[in-house]
Amino acid sequence: MKHQCPLCLSVADTFFRDTKHHFLLCPKCQGIFRDLNQFLSPTDEKKRYLTHRSDMEDKGYYNFVLPIIDQVKLHISKGGQGLDFGCGHFPVLSNYLEREGYQMSVFDPIFYKDDSAMNSQYEFIVCCEVMEHFFQPSQEFQALFKSLRPQGKLICKTHLFEKEMSFDTWYYKNDPSHVFIYQAETVHWIKNNYLLKDVKINDRVIIFTK
Ligand SMILES: [Zn+2]
Repeated sequence: MKHQCPLCLSVADTFFRDTKHHFLLCPKCQGIFRDLNQFLSPTDEKKRYLTHRSDMEDKGYYNFVLPIIDQVKLHISKGGQGLDFGCGHFPVLSNYLEREGYQMSVFDPIFYKDDSAMNSQYEFIVCCEVMEHFFQPSQEFQALFKSLRPQGKLICKTHLFEKEMSFDTWYYKNDPSHVFIYQAETVHWIKNNYLLKDVKINDRVIIFTK
């Protein structure tokens, strides 16, 4: 069955199917997306996010967000204004960044749905393990780049799929709230499509420059 890619709107075919998961591969942007019939209900999705641990004193969580903090410190001077997009039920990453001297706003479509936060323009936006949850990545990226000042940085963390990896044993696809998986080509497609100046991939961290 044919499906439309929610990032570039091309028609895509089945890439992987087993008893639990059905993913499609877009021939144009190389995005790998979950069949929309398998999306969680809003209630189940919220329940799933509430199980995500995000405790300020949790060392494991600090290490999880550290690659983003390092990139912010590398690119943005102290005092810079940033947005933590998709911060979850407790905005730990933005608290860490405030400790580092940044001025943070937060937005989350489920837990902190303050639309005024998206109407400002920021020097940087952090998006930690969020973009794989985008139902409508084309709309989400459009909104994100609109909320970024010229030369601003969108710093995302996700796990990219690489062709050498085996999708059927890959843990990352098993989370039912992971609905859009990116490959390096997908990241470059985003950079070109949204007319961005630059993109860098540094392991699991992707840094877009507007
Ligand atoms: Zn696509």
